[in-house]
Amino acid sequence: MTVGLSKNIHVGILVALLFCLQHTAAWCQARPSLGGTSRMMNNALTAMEQGDYEKANRHFREIINSNTAIPPEMPYHFAATLYHLGQYDNSANFIKKYLDLNGYNGEHYEQAKELEKKLEVHLNEIRACNYCDNRGYRYTTCTTCDGKKQIEQACSLCKGQGVIGCSRCVGKGLVTKKNVFNIVEYFECERCSGEGRLPCSKCEGKLIEFDDCRVCQAKGLIPSEKICDHQENGPLSFRTGFKNPFHRH
Ligand SMILES: [Zn+2]
Ligand SMILES: [Zn+2]
Ligand SMILES: [Zn+2]
Ligand SMILES: [Zn+2]
Repeated sequence: MTVGLSKNIHVGILVALLFCLQHTAAWCQARPSLGGTSRMMNNALTAMEQGDYEKANRHFREIINSNTAIPPEMPYHFAATLYHLGQYDNSANFIKKYLDLNGYNGEHYEQAKELEKKLEVHLNEIRACNYCDNRGYRYTTCTTCDGKKQIEQACSLCKGQGVIGCSRCVGKGLVTKKNVFNIVEYFECERCSGEGRLPCSKCEGKLIEFDDCRVCQAKGLIPSEKICDHQENGPLSFRTGFKNPFHRH
């Protein structure tokens, strides 16, 4: 009994040891790339200090794209950079990530909570604005439908031909009937008057049909790459027929 028990304990210790070793190994593997990451991180922080947030943004994205371990304080600095660039929705995502990962232990916990508060003001503005999407990007006229919400396309039933095959005579123009002597006789199809074809019932010969624009989900608008100023006639309002899609008459 005692031998068995002590053996179990030994196995337990061994498993625990192996577990530690595995983690150490993973940590060791990640180490060589940490040099690159900290260099990128330093570049980003320097750019932030210089007030060049576009440049800082590029360096932070380099870190994300490098597929290496992300330094724990990185999400906070990235969120602050995105805040300065007016990318409030994205900034909020990274602040959330930072607080989820580090909690109270984050070096920038207080600043992160403060930034979260500042962001809330902007996020509320975005929610209340009809001129931008939920990330704060200004809407512009959909180029696919030209703001018309629908697109013109070849009729899907007749494929733009204007006619469809007659279903009664299967396009032959003739139908068969058996007479009293059980002999098959041919008659002109009544439905298509022997033509075998009928005007398209869907487009009624217009060859086209209208379908909801899928690009803008029939809103006539798509988000541009410009951060919205939430002003109806501000510098970001588009001259070409901007219509508020949510305006109730
Ligand atoms: Zn459209
Ligand atoms: Zn017919
Ligand atoms: Zn048609
Ligand atoms: Zn807006």
